[in-house]
Amino acid sequence: MKLTSICVYCGSSSGIDPEIIHQAELLGKTLAQKEITLVYGAAKIGIMGAVAQGALDHNGKVIGVIPKFLQIKEVVHTGLTELIVNETMSERKLKLQELSDGFITLPGGFGTMEELFEVLTWSQLALHQKPVGMLNVNGFYDDLLKALKNMVDKGFLKQENLEILLVDTTVDGLLEQMNNFKPQAMPKWLKASLDVKK
Ligand code: AMP
Repeated sequence: MKLTSICVYCGSSSGIDPEIIHQAELLGKTLAQKEITLVYGAAKIGIMGAVAQGALDHNGKVIGVIPKFLQIKEVVHTGLTELIVNETMSERKLKLQELSDGFITLPGGFGTMEELFEVLTWSQLALHQKPVGMLNVNGFYDDLLKALKNMVDKGFLKQENLEILLVDTTVDGLLEQMNNFKPQAMPKWLKASLDVKK
């Protein structure tokens, strides 16, 4: 699958690990060099700012999406190729999804987690068939990945659904996995329910 735009979910804080900031900048730079549009939450601060700056510094195309009420709190990046302002967080998330061929999660907090788990859930429900990746920098997500494996072991998450999430420790490795991504067949129960509605 040729990816022309990727949405990056990541922290509005910078965290304390300089390697995470470095990898965010590298991701932005790599997207720019591969002529893949960066779609993200429009902030100039935190890891969000680092990924955007990495792309812009290498002449990349960057689209930011932000709801009106966050425009000040998250300090909007004024140098973006395009800025889309909407009303609500839900509209923002939908727009980020619509504009993107795939999703990458870098380290972040609650907001990042919500965005990641929404695209994973929507993939599980076959509402989209786009690759969902996670850049696991310096083991940042090791404990979360263990928790997800525990959900499989305890019967709350199907192994095949866990495998929707493509995890890598390098930008190049992750992009390669996403390029090779083949969507899963629609789950039988969902196909049956869609057939009933026809
Ligand atoms: P955080 O990981 O908490 O630093 O948040 C990262 C980004 O997610 C920030 O741009 C937040 O505004 C955004 N965010 C937080 N909650 C939501 C939400 N419910 N819908 C859309 N974006 C959100």
